Amino acid sequence: MSTLKISGVSYSYSIGDGKTIRALKNISFDVEQGEYLALVGMNGSGKSTLAKLLNGLYIPSKGTVLVDGIDTANDDTIFEVRKKVGIVFQNPDNQAVATIVEDDVAFGPENLGIPRAEIVERVNEALEAVDMEKHRERTFSKLSGGQKQRVAIAGVLAMRPDVIILDEATSMLDPKGRRKIMSIVKKLNEAGITIINITHHMDEAAHANRIIVLKNGSIIADNTPKEIFASKVMDEAGLKLPLPAQIANQLNENGFNFESAPLTLNELMEEICQQLK
Ligand code: ADP
Ligand code: MG
Repeated sequence: MSTLKISGVSYSYSIGDGKTIRALKNISFDVEQGEYLALVGMNGSGKSTLAKLLNGLYIPSKGTVLVDGIDTANDDTIFEVRKKVGIVFQNPDNQAVATIVEDDVAFGPENLGIPRAEIVERVNEALEAVDMEKHRERTFSKLSGGQKQRVAIAGVLAMRPDVIILDEATSMLDPKGRRKIMSIVKKLNEAGITIINITHHMDEAAHANRIIVLKNGSIIADNTPKEIFASKVMDEAGLKLPLPAQIANQLNENGFNFESAPLTLNELMEEICQQLK
């Protein structure tokens, strides 16, 4: 069970000639096991850098990242960290390591030196969790984008992680593929896995229990979706509100009184009916 503790973290990229880009500036927050967090912010706000710091791909320039109490800066325990925190990236084609689906999913546990019988068990379990067991013997490159991303999630699941980070993992998918991934992610969260979803889709962020908003490498808000979408912070971050919240704001300018943002169209309709009584 992993708690993430990010304390005073800054990260700078060296870009030659002694020049640096400060991608993250003095970030602090904790994530408890089982949370469903969305991380939002404009392009370049530091989301992917933060994702890579959380599983030890990057080490903070300043401050500490603790995963289940383990400092990611400690070389001796870096594999523990990588096992606990898995990342699914934007482009599934860059993540595949084997031609056949089940071999791809087995790759992670094989590298950990896990006994054959347990690998088989893990691969079965992971493919089932993403609804891809029927496709286990197929060629990865022949799958649809959504299926490929489900295999990538299975590959992470086979490591039995505590935390899964999705870094714009649905951005190349059509709406149907996106919905499928979101429903899988919800189930994984209900099974106790911590989810951190980095997304440009605010309707996806609305599914989280908590949203962190990044702007220019700093956290400018950390709150529930209802609070975030009802505040000015999205505007400040240069982000659009999800549609139900946009409509509620328009209605507020026309005599309605939404105190918090509706997260779904259903919620919006119910509140409108309530207020018209
Ligand atoms: P996001 O994922 O929110 O779009 P990133 O974490 O990718 O943001 O980038 C944060 C900042 O760091 C941006 O200014 C970006 O240009 C810079 N950056 C990201 N990756 C590199 C890199 N490999 N080398 C130099 N600068 C980078
Ligand atoms: Mg990014």
